[in-house]
Amino acid sequence: MKPIQMVDLKSQYHKIKEEIDSRVLNVIESSAYINGPAVKDFQQHLEEYLHVKHVIPCGNGTDALLVAMMALDLKPGDEVISTPFTFIATVEVIGLLGLTPVFVDVEEDTFNMDVRQLEAAITPKTKAIVPVHLFGQCCNMQEILKIANKHGVAVIEDNCQAIGAEVMIDNYPLQKSGTLGTIGCTSFFPSKNLGCYGDGGALFTNDDALDEKIRGIVNHGMFTRYYHDMIGVNSRLDSIQAAILDVKLKHLDEYIAARQQAALYYNKAFANHPNIVTPATASYSTHVFHQYTLKLKNVDRYRLIEHMKELGVPVMIYYPVPLHLQKAFAHLGYHKGDFPVTEALCDCVVSLPMHTELDEEQLQYITTNFLNTMDQFAN
Ligand SMILES: *Cc1c(COP(=O)(O)O)cnc(C)c1O
Repeated sequence: MKPIQMVDLKSQYHKIKEEIDSRVLNVIESSAYINGPAVKDFQQHLEEYLHVKHVIPCGNGTDALLVAMMALDLKPGDEVISTPFTFIATVEVIGLLGLTPVFVDVEEDTFNMDVRQLEAAITPKTKAIVPVHLFGQCCNMQEILKIANKHGVAVIEDNCQAIGAEVMIDNYPLQKSGTLGTIGCTSFFPSKNLGCYGDGGALFTNDDALDEKIRGIVNHGMFTRYYHDMIGVNSRLDSIQAAILDVKLKHLDEYIAARQQAALYYNKAFANHPNIVTPATASYSTHVFHQYTLKLKNVDRYRLIEHMKELGVPVMIYYPVPLHLQKAFAHLGYHKGDFPVTEALCDCVVSLPMHTELDEEQLQYITTNFLNTMDQFAN
């Protein structure tokens, strides 16, 4: 059996090695390392894949979120709503710009923003909502957009974990996640569903004016060469990474299908187990399983993780500490008990190995050992 890893990027690379190597060598030969044709090609192919008017590549997913907030002219004192059950980057950039993060709790089944609590969090200072499509499943965008439009606030989708997921809104045909809000943000970090071999990210928008502004901001606030109209950043996707992404984009749907296949195997193995709750799928979104995350009931989670590690199966906790209880956000004055659903999730979730290269033998090994170990540590 191949060793089991949370993500197996090497096996995936070996299947597309020839094309990747030749595209990378082409870039090196061309010496167009920054803003070369590979970046334009990838941008265009991603626009076609997403059916979105503009894709603006940048340095990483965190920058994408930062630049999105800069492009919307958010200023210190403005409030930005997001959830406390996400990776730090989402809320870190809110803090970095001197904006005020306002949290809304998540739903206990989808792990995404609880839209029933959203409207109550909106104040005259609210300027944006940042829904996070966590673990590969979209938030309830229909409700979020309705509330955002009613109050005239922007929506920045944190799509770092959900590229390729499809969302249902009313009677529209399915749309790709990240393309419904004012701006969508994604990350091409290697372990993401569409990952490069280094750092990378992008913003999506259907708004021509925002597209132009974002392109200026990621390039030092420069709209005409050496004329800087605003303070920007330096955030680029380099040509080698773009060439790699352009190859991998052609495989994205097949990669998503492989993840969904693995998730289905897990779901079947864990169905109706008294100590395990398998991931819920919302009616309005497909799930691209960036992570496969279980909720455990009455189980000593840390001993289970330790034992699985000895058996050669990594099991991770995404995320162990709610953002409102992180030291970095102590100044916001939140307390334990403020977001009970997030806090309960942080205490009971575990994520299993999830990637495009899991085979039946590995899945059987993981599930059999997980169930056996569970019986030992359930109380
Ligand atoms: C990965 C991730 C980010 C940050 O992306 P980087 O490319 O690592 O900067 C932001 N938000 C979420 C939800 C993520 O998973």
